[in-house]
Amino acid sequence: MHQARDRRERLREMLARERDTLEEQVGRGSFGVVHRARVAGTKEQVAVKIVDLEADVSELEAVKSEVETMASATACAQLVRYLGCHVVRRRLWIVTEYLGGGSLGDLMAKTNKPLPEACIRGVLSEILKGLAFLHAQRRLHRDVKGKNVLVSIDGSVKLADFGVATRLTDTTTKRRSLIGTPYWMAPEVIEQSRYDGAADVWSVGITAIELATTKPPHSTLHPMKVLFVVPKAASPVLEGEFTAPFKALVARCVAKNADDRPACDVLLRAPWIASCNFEAASKPLLAALVAEAAAAAPPPRPPSSRSPTPS
Ligand code: ATP
Repeated sequence: MHQARDRRERLREMLARERDTLEEQVGRGSFGVVHRARVAGTKEQVAVKIVDLEADVSELEAVKSEVETMASATACAQLVRYLGCHVVRRRLWIVTEYLGGGSLGDLMAKTNKPLPEACIRGVLSEILKGLAFLHAQRRLHRDVKGKNVLVSIDGSVKLADFGVATRLTDTTTKRRSLIGTPYWMAPEVIEQSRYDGAADVWSVGITAIELATTKPPHSTLHPMKVLFVVPKAASPVLEGEFTAPFKALVARCVAKNADDRPACDVLLRAPWIASCNFEAASKPLLAALVAEAAAAAPPPRPPSSRSPTPS
């Protein structure tokens, strides 16, 4: 605990002292751009999401919620680690650990192929551990998908982007808002009825299909159309050359009735997941895919201008 605080203090001081901490831009989200940055002294790489504080209030509320969720989850190895925030000329720098392989969505796009089942098995076990941690804190992620699972150079995977995460309070044990990305959204979320952690479990099932086939179900439809189709259609099915336990796990995650979906800690005990050795079986495969994607991608562009000093 003390160690984490000292580390954060050190990072804060270093970022505050240094100019030119930002390196190339690695992504762009709805709240702003994400840069890789290097902490002077330690040379540690971090990611910095830069949010314009002059954005409208609802966006800033979402940013606040994202930071709160990350700050409450630093003890979970499967969630992207939050390192601190700084205000830099009316911009908020949100500093997190850096995962050099980008998202699983990017990885599939760069390698132009789905992930092998042995990778997906490990990825699912890591995502479920991250979600089990959030759900135990009565929080929902609400946007689980390949693009929000980041991978490090050495093949570790972590759930990221808590921009629409929410906390289930004692008075509102179920939420009723249309949040997430249509293709991955559970039927009860689309219908804006009561929902809880089972909505994240549905998105895990859809993410499993996405990782196995490169696309979520109904990907040929317009997102608005998907909002009509998913509540009426039968549950999606993982088809193709996959093992029976993998197909069965996906089927449990995408049960139409939310009450029929097992909780994350129950899924973690399913033999196919529980017997998976992520470190030995999945991580090296993921690291090899990251290397393959890096070889396929053009070299990153440096930042266009010097970055300002945090204040
Ligand atoms: P949105 O905010 O619209 O949901 P998003 O999930 O893509 O979109 P961000 O969390 O801002 O939004 O991330 C944008 C991209 O930046 C990611 O897709 C990823 O490629 C990259 N990125 C984000 N965080 C990190 C990180 N910690 N390490 C490495 N790359 C990151």
